[in-house]
Amino acid sequence: MATDKVSEEYGSLLFTDKDMQERLPKPTYKKLMQVIKEGAPLDIDIANEVAHAMKEWALEKGATHYTHWFQPLTGITSEKHDSFISPKGDGSVLMTFSGKELVQGEPDASSFPSGGLRATFEARGYTVWDPTSPAFIKDEVLCIPTAFISYTGEALDKKTPLLRSEVALEKQAKRLLALFGQKPHRVYTTIGPEQEYFLIKEEDYQARPDLILTGRTLFGCEPAKGQELEEHYFGAIRPTVNEFMKELDDELWKLGIPAKTKHNEVAPCQHELAPIFERGSLAIDDNLLTMEKMKLIASHHGLVCLQHEKPFDYVNGSGKHNNWSLCADNKNLLEPGDDPQDNLQFLVFLACLVAAVDDHADLLRMSVASAGNDHRLGANEAPPAIISVFLGDALTPIVEALVKKEQPEAHDRESIDLGVPQLPEVLRDNTDRNRTSPFAFTGNKFEFRMCGSQQNLSDPNVILNTAVAEQCERFVDYVADRADEDFTTVAMRFVRHTFRDHQRILFDGNGYSEEWEAEAARRGLPNLKTTPDALPALVKPENIKFFEKYGVLSETEVHARYVAKAEQYAKLLNIEANTMVYMTRHMYLPALFDYSGDIATSVATKAELGIDAKAEKKMVNVLTDGINSISDAVDDLEAKNAQAKNLEDPQAADDCYRDVVIPAMTALRTAVDDMEKVCGHDYWPVPSYNKMLFYV
Ligand code: ADP
Ligand code: MG
Repeated sequence: MATDKVSEEYGSLLFTDKDMQERLPKPTYKKLMQVIKEGAPLDIDIANEVAHAMKEWALEKGATHYTHWFQPLTGITSEKHDSFISPKGDGSVLMTFSGKELVQGEPDASSFPSGGLRATFEARGYTVWDPTSPAFIKDEVLCIPTAFISYTGEALDKKTPLLRSEVALEKQAKRLLALFGQKPHRVYTTIGPEQEYFLIKEEDYQARPDLILTGRTLFGCEPAKGQELEEHYFGAIRPTVNEFMKELDDELWKLGIPAKTKHNEVAPCQHELAPIFERGSLAIDDNLLTMEKMKLIASHHGLVCLQHEKPFDYVNGSGKHNNWSLCADNKNLLEPGDDPQDNLQFLVFLACLVAAVDDHADLLRMSVASAGNDHRLGANEAPPAIISVFLGDALTPIVEALVKKEQPEAHDRESIDLGVPQLPEVLRDNTDRNRTSPFAFTGNKFEFRMCGSQQNLSDPNVILNTAVAEQCERFVDYVADRADEDFTTVAMRFVRHTFRDHQRILFDGNGYSEEWEAEAARRGLPNLKTTPDALPALVKPENIKFFEKYGVLSETEVHARYVAKAEQYAKLLNIEANTMVYMTRHMYLPALFDYSGDIATSVATKAELGIDAKAEKKMVNVLTDGINSISDAVDDLEAKNAQAKNLEDPQAADDCYRDVVIPAMTALRTAVDDMEKVCGHDYWPVPSYNKMLFYV
């Protein structure tokens, strides 16, 4: 897009606040703002007027349809398009859109995963307008962000619990802030999701059933070259990729998505996009839209965008960093301030966060568990499966000193005077980074780095928001119990005791090291290495109580999510196992039969001529042994997958996939990859890692 066009086109496909202000009568606009900003109930007259304005705007932009855009438990977005047409009876049509259609939809949605929440006979689900996320136009369709709930009011989606957790956090954070004499209008989270992805050639993708069916390569021997030269990270962007990125920026900007940073990542063909942070649930909506646009726009450039956590072995996989902070009106509450009370308040929030992460480390780990992410976490390219918090060079000495009741050593960097006698100085230091930490304080926000690239970020943020809400409430109660003492003294004691009690979660060292694993075990930190290990945390009685207490999820909703996640893991692995069997029987074995057969023929022909073809004979033997190993391994995988598939209990099935099927998949992959190393290039039925990662 030309420079002068950027500001003109920015947000042109988004029904913005400005559009509403221009198109709605003043009183209607005011009432709508009360709904959006203060959570006031929405009446149907207002909805009718908003619907009308929205439709007129959408028609001007060329839209013919509308859809309720929602996020079922698959995590990806769903939509069903309805046109605006309404027959007049004389053969012509009107374009109509009512308040009722805006506010509520009833997708015939019996086929979404519900974890047993909806028996099919009462399969009705409703979508309900989320006025806090603006409507937008995508492919001539007016998209209305919605929550998705059942007939009986249970949340069937990822968004509803997120919105509920935001409400809980806002309520408790306001109570905390009130003790500091602050009465902000709104308290909300801000999120900036850094999205990693791969781009490969469409022709390579089309030639690989594993990529098409599972999003990752299930086979492939080690490429001659990997990422060891460290030349791709921040390297010059290839022209085709650059064209893709430019079109992506243009499209995102039109949708009002503040795409900011783009660069090459560590692995060959890997890239990253980071937007400017936005209000929590909106940032997640925008991330989902970004992911969708990435896939679509890649196809315009002969590319395919892979968002799987581990598309290729031997090189890094893709994650998504969830940068998170808390804002009161426009003030970042995780920014250490200049005045002493601000800094005390900052330390209280910091302590709350540390305690929140420690108390709910198992749930945070659970929230990022998936079959795909199991390949990354703990694999020296992503944080380990152990949750810990990194505070950095500036804050660590302060926290240590607070716990020991000492003054920290003087630091020669810029310092912020806390001014309160009991308080040490807080040093401003935004430079320290510990890339191996799952949960790092980065100056004025926390960065949760365990999230998977294809993940909907609602799950981790639900846990984070609710856990912080709980801690804010604990502070309020703590102060109330000591009402006759001086507030500053009490608050400082809360901070000190909280850091003391949760010191075990703080870790500034190398999270990739084996020593840390041993040390974390000594500290009693959970190390839940796989999805089947991590998921049961969701349904622990104390965790169900935690969700219920803050009105985020009911016991039924929690169970449904557990079942849906457990089933999804088993289903994905079943598809992977099936795909491996299919590729082995239909592609690899036939190719190896051909290749070994051709060499054997050559051996026989040469023998007739009295030539002893030593090397070829040796190769026939190698190939025959390899074929036999593959044949045994594929039979074994098929049998073990059948065994797992027969298990009805989702946890038993998941455990069986982890313990029985995955090792059989690994054995088959090894057998096939060994043969890829020796098979003739023209015979090998799929593109190699060398080609996919480097011939671009
Ligand atoms: P990196 O982590 O790679 O060093 P940056 O520090 O530039 O990158 O920030 C990464 C992301 O963090 C960006 O999306 C940015 O918008 C987001 N971010 C910055 N400040 C905040 C904040 N207060 N709340 C949430 N996200 C934030
Ligand atoms: Mg980052």
